[in-house]
Amino acid sequence: AGEELRELLLSRITDVPDYPKPGVMFKDITPLLADARAFTALTDAFVALCERYGATKVVGLEARGFILAAPVAVRAGVGFVPVRKAGKLPGATLAQSYELEYGSAEIEMHADALTAGDRVLVIDDVLATGGTAEASLKLIRRAGAEVAGVAVLMELGFLPGRDRLAPVLGDAPLEAL
Ligand code: AMP
Repeated sequence: AGEELRELLLSRITDVPDYPKPGVMFKDITPLLADARAFTALTDAFVALCERYGATKVVGLEARGFILAAPVAVRAGVGFVPVRKAGKLPGATLAQSYELEYGSAEIEMHADALTAGDRVLVIDDVLATGGTAEASLKLIRRAGAEVAGVAVLMELGFLPGRDRLAPVLGDAPLEAL
């Protein structure tokens, strides 16, 4: 991303210490969403990645990934597919669990949401440990589709998310705006 875009986006993200629990620095993107210029610039940047990597679908990761990915889908002219926390989707699903610091979590996608010809760009706000993104890539592959890449607003560089994702990404790119 260009330096100007980077500065604009950073200026609209607030650090909230010790939320939702002690020791976590929460990246609050609500100021960015409330700023039409910043939200549009972010959407444009994601759309450019869709085009560069030939995406035919975008997957948004619950919940902030939904907000970011939906306008990208509309602007890029591709479909939107939600990946949700377990138990939220009404149809037949594929489920994938992954390890957290303490315990595990599970995400789901509708089993018929993707087809073999699809190239999928995964969009989320923050890449932290990479667990959620990694599980979503497994879901996409299990659905028979191809991973076009992962695009996030922000990567927490002090966490090993990029390393965790690397083996699952293979040749597909990880872009942090
Ligand atoms: P992870 O699976 O650890 O990469 O976590 C990714 C998910 O948790 C994303 O959907 C983020 O929205 C959320 N998340 C993790 N850490 C943070 C943070 N410091 N600030 C805001 N959101 C976060």
